[in-house]
Amino acid sequence: MTENTNVKSARILIVEDEAPIRTLISFACAAAGYEVECAEDAQKAQSVVENNPPDLVLLDYMLPGLSGVEWLERLHADPKTEHLPVIMLTARGSESDRVKGLNAGADDYIVKPFMPRELIARIQAVLRRYQHQSKNEQDSLNVEVVCGPLTMNEASFEAKVDGEALSLSAKEFKLLLVFAKNPERVYSREMLLQLVWDNAYVDERTVDVHMLRLRKQLQGTRAENLLQTVRGLGYRAHISE
Ligand code: CA
Repeated sequence: MTENTNVKSARILIVEDEAPIRTLISFACAAAGYEVECAEDAQKAQSVVENNPPDLVLLDYMLPGLSGVEWLERLHADPKTEHLPVIMLTARGSESDRVKGLNAGADDYIVKPFMPRELIARIQAVLRRYQHQSKNEQDSLNVEVVCGPLTMNEASFEAKVDGEALSLSAKEFKLLLVFAKNPERVYSREMLLQLVWDNAYVDERTVDVHMLRLRKQLQGTRAENLLQTVRGLGYRAHISE
């Protein structure tokens, strides 16, 4: 499935009390390939969101009963719906409505009356942004660095050799990660101090002490010879065949 078909098969909830506008928007969304659901007030919209959450909400500002922006505040206060994408529909000239909508967490707003084409373009843009975000979140949960037999996970701070966990301090982990990310690259002690100790005043021998500890941890594993001394220069990770 391409990204485009994903975006197009999204479910849109239209919350609008004026029937002609609701019909118009509903028609435009369906014509663009979206699945459509309608609600004429916040209460009905709430039950749709609870029973069958949509991918995006088109929310009119002026609704009978709970206003669009009041309902939006409730949505965003609930952890289950705080990330639901919302585009507000606001009346022409009502700058303060737009500001209130955006402050309440709307992703975008569109001013009535609008062209269906413009509405669809806004919907697509917001959906794409969310797809991109959730992909990035997934990527950041799975940040594995592999260097020969060594595997490091930046999110969980785990380092393993052939599946066996190493027991490393935070600094040792950070130091080993520098090498794991750039095998064969030589790092001087000074570079390592900058990268791992953030320029704090630390003696260069600190690096040697930590390298010694890392090598001890790797002893007896297949990564035993991973960390090498490059005479006169510093250290590198070398993956042997
Ligand atoms: Ca209205």
